[in-house]
Amino acid sequence: MSNTGNLKIVIAGGGTAGWMAAALFARFLGDTAEITLVESDAIGTVGVGEATIPQIHNLIQGLGLDQAEFMRATNASFKLGIEFVDWLRVGHSYIHSFGATGRTVGLIPFRQLWLRGRGLGVAKDFGSYGLNVVAAREQRFTLAPLKNVADLGYAYHFDASLLAKLLRSYSEKRGVKRVEGKIAAFERDGETGDITLMTLENGTALAADLFIDCTGFASLALGKTLGVSFVDWSEYLPCDTALAVPTEAGDHLRPYTQSLARPAGWQWRIPLQHRTGNGHVFCSSFMDVGEATDLLLASLETKPLGDPRPIRFRTGHRKEFWSHNCVALGLAAGFMEPLESTSIHLVQSGVARLLTLLPGDLKGGAKAREVFNRQSQIEWERIRDFLVLHYIANEREGDPFWDHCRAITPPDTLAEKIEMFENSGQIVREDEELFLDESWGQVMLGQGIEPRSWSPLADNVPAKDIGPFLGAIEKQASMIAGSLPTHRQFLTGFVGRVAERT
Ligand SMILES: Cc1cc2nc3c(=O)[nH]c(=O)nc-3n(C[C@H](O)[C@H](O)[C@H](O)COP(=O)(O)OP(=O)(O)OC[C@H]3O[C@@H](n4cnc5c(N)ncnc54)[C@H](O)[C@@H]3O)c2cc1C
Repeated sequence: MSNTGNLKIVIAGGGTAGWMAAALFARFLGDTAEITLVESDAIGTVGVGEATIPQIHNLIQGLGLDQAEFMRATNASFKLGIEFVDWLRVGHSYIHSFGATGRTVGLIPFRQLWLRGRGLGVAKDFGSYGLNVVAAREQRFTLAPLKNVADLGYAYHFDASLLAKLLRSYSEKRGVKRVEGKIAAFERDGETGDITLMTLENGTALAADLFIDCTGFASLALGKTLGVSFVDWSEYLPCDTALAVPTEAGDHLRPYTQSLARPAGWQWRIPLQHRTGNGHVFCSSFMDVGEATDLLLASLETKPLGDPRPIRFRTGHRKEFWSHNCVALGLAAGFMEPLESTSIHLVQSGVARLLTLLPGDLKGGAKAREVFNRQSQIEWERIRDFLVLHYIANEREGDPFWDHCRAITPPDTLAEKIEMFENSGQIVREDEELFLDESWGQVMLGQGIEPRSWSPLADNVPAKDIGPFLGAIEKQASMIAGSLPTHRQFLTGFVGRVAERT
């Protein structure tokens, strides 16, 4: 029995994906691996990707970073969820929060008790029972433990370029070697087809056992060199262009992302300490860049700090995420649009999966590759389903883009989820999928999917008790939220000072 020995890893690309991979490899493989990262300042990074989901805590804890220091270094703010404005119909909004809504009673999920309460005419809007939602609406936040209720669930908004800088310094301190230069080509072994060498335009040649493709949309190693095809999901997720522009920080420091539906897509607002990130994601078959730019500029809350920058993309993923001795992470592996801030998470889970499955002898790693690809595909498909739900369940009749989205045939896995929810408000989750019951439930209800009945479990509670039960939870959420510091107050105290506005 033996291991191959010191693993030589070359990471192609130094965006968020490349530096996250470098930091995590350095942290968890330590001296057993020799890690080199190649990036080109002349090419730069995609420069977006500033909103996250709570799984980001695993990255910070995994790297052993101090939360306050991390937030100071990246000018981060707290994120309690995402507000979806006008998605169901114009004038309607809801928050997909990261916290629990209400309280389960024994085996009875809160949503079932709420549905019954609604049947009895004693229930308010679902979000009124979620502390995260109420705190978000009032722009309040705390990390202090709360009495008798679960703590707030949260993630961050941060500056992507500052994150890459932080991860770079972390990685270099732990021995990762950075090489500046443009990648010219990859050479392959004539027999096995494995990549043997990466060559740069300046003539440098780098050999490795494992190549990590983090070259962004270019997908130079997995896509271009190994020829792994692209599984196109534009039939499900038709948006294909984004315009991004930062603006000055506003007076509000919302502890949540805003996603505002637009005639041919949607617009994001991501509040950081020093500025706000803004963008307009749209489908170019329904709107041209000029109109999309005008729409974005007209709805900025503060002064732009540059010109909107178009970014073209195709939704979908590489058919294999790991082929031969090359694993793609980040945009090189695929992209599902930023609606639920899942891309950075997918980098993180990709690295975690790779570290878990990495065989002692890479040459005998065919089974590991197969498992990695199967698990990654399931993870991507379940996230895709969650995103598609937002689009297909809309009532924006008469908007051609939204009419088109309503007519999309959902993947079977999503169709089943919707059918179960329409029946009795139940969520079926399988294969350790990313989004929890809470998330699915909030978005199903937010997008107007109405269960016809509720689980008989909820009938076990006497009808007369339902109203007082719901009333007590609503009161508690409102009282606790009202007692919390504002997001700005808390953040200022926690990080020492909030960064100067740009
Ligand atoms: C509009 C938009 C909004 C997004 N919003 C979010 C969000 O809110 N939350 C989220 O989680 N994710 C978001 N994402 C995704 C997120 O931005 C990416 O997942 C993340 O930034 C990782 O990108 P990357 O490192 O794969 O690619 P990039 O940032 O493009 O990095 C590619 C790297 O490869 C290098 N490179 C490329 N070609 C060569 C070459 N020939 N030679 C040398 N080096 C080369 C580049 O220099 C760069 O260092 C968003 C993406 C888009 C497009």
